[in-house]
Amino acid sequence: MSTHPLVALDRDHLIHPLVNYQAHEQRGVTILESGHGAYLRDAQGTELLDAFSGLWCVNVGYGQESVVRAAAEQMRKLPYATGYFHFGSEPAIRLAARLVELAPASLRHVYFTLGGSDADDSAIRFITHYYNSTGRPAKKHFISLERGYHGSSTMGAGLTALAVFHHHFDVPLPQQHKIPSPYPYRNPAGSDPDTIIRTSVEALRAKVRELGQDNVAAFFCEPIQGSGGVLVPPKGWLKAMRDACRELDVLFVVDEVITGFGRTGPMFACEAEHVEPDLMVVAKGLTAGYAPMGAVLMSDAVYRGIADNMPAGVPVGHGHTYSAHPVSAAVGLEVLRLYTEGGLLANGQARAPRFEQGLRDLLAHPLVGDARSRGLLGALELVADKADKTRFDPALKLHERIAVAAYRNRLVFRAFGDNVLGFAPALCYTADDFDLMFERLTRTLDEVL
Ligand code: PLP
Repeated sequence: MSTHPLVALDRDHLIHPLVNYQAHEQRGVTILESGHGAYLRDAQGTELLDAFSGLWCVNVGYGQESVVRAAAEQMRKLPYATGYFHFGSEPAIRLAARLVELAPASLRHVYFTLGGSDADDSAIRFITHYYNSTGRPAKKHFISLERGYHGSSTMGAGLTALAVFHHHFDVPLPQQHKIPSPYPYRNPAGSDPDTIIRTSVEALRAKVRELGQDNVAAFFCEPIQGSGGVLVPPKGWLKAMRDACRELDVLFVVDEVITGFGRTGPMFACEAEHVEPDLMVVAKGLTAGYAPMGAVLMSDAVYRGIADNMPAGVPVGHGHTYSAHPVSAAVGLEVLRLYTEGGLLANGQARAPRFEQGLRDLLAHPLVGDARSRGLLGALELVADKADKTRFDPALKLHERIAVAAYRNRLVFRAFGDNVLGFAPALCYTADDFDLMFERLTRTLDEVL
């Protein structure tokens, strides 16, 4: 363990998200000190190539001076403005309007949060309020996908379908239900796109039938499931699920916390299939990690359903002190400008074929069973036997060995417990950055063979 004085302080006082606390106490923290472009530097002075954009969020790369200036100027002018009592601030209003301009046309109204979890949680609360307001109080059941991730709040963690988020937490709640994920590599009925789409739609219809259409509020999904292992469904899947929800009178909520803001090519993954959701949840790339912020976007029908049915003088009992925080909003406005006029969205689109080809080339590696990607979001799935797709024995802790080897090779990506390696390079990556990424990744895989 490093002898850096902060390591002991960290062990004694700072609780980290999503780690095994005992393992963390033994291993110690790796302190990140600075970043520039696609590169991070740690406290030992080691420069690391970040192929995960922090936690799939720093889409514009590190050290973007114009974002720093936007935050500093807003902080100097007015660091905080409450949204309560009918107050507001210019950057928050402009950011809401800009988001509506960029988002699918169905979405007209924006509620800002501090991140993705409270945005998913807010979406659930708004939906509940909507059905209570519009005289359909029985519509309280929520459906999401197995392996889905919708944050760590109590309600959101119940829609999340990763066992570790439930263990010892008493969720999911009885009104939270799951249907199988579209997982082409391991779909029991095969990887044919039409079959996958048909099975998902049938599973949704069957679940709604089982619960009763009058009892089902909404279906939540990620266009590509990120934390569940970067599961890329066939083109047409999202649209088919959207259409099924309309037919079943169930609200369609798309969680674009990872897939938004150029991660998969277009500004939002919905755009690729002309999908118009009832609600959309965003975070991460909205401020690219320079300040915390998330948002729920909702259709006019949902917003009006709540607004038009309110008893006079009674507020909607949902709010956060830092909702629409002006500094985060100023950051968001500049980050959106970098994607658009700043050319980063176009750069990400231009570089994506190199990234996707690099992953596909690794299918020749003895460890790699599957390579999947869309835009700059991708994964490799490592298997013990390529012919029958057998997973590695968890006791081997291969993913931990990979994480250690990756650090030695000065590369950052995410090695999930089931030996899926997730990649989300920043939209500012150059051709040289990709060459270096694949050189270091290949070396890492060779070392753990
Ligand atoms: N939804 C999705 C799809 C996510 O990937 C995440 C985080 O990874 C969240 C929600 C939760 O966001 P946050 O970690 O900002 O609370």
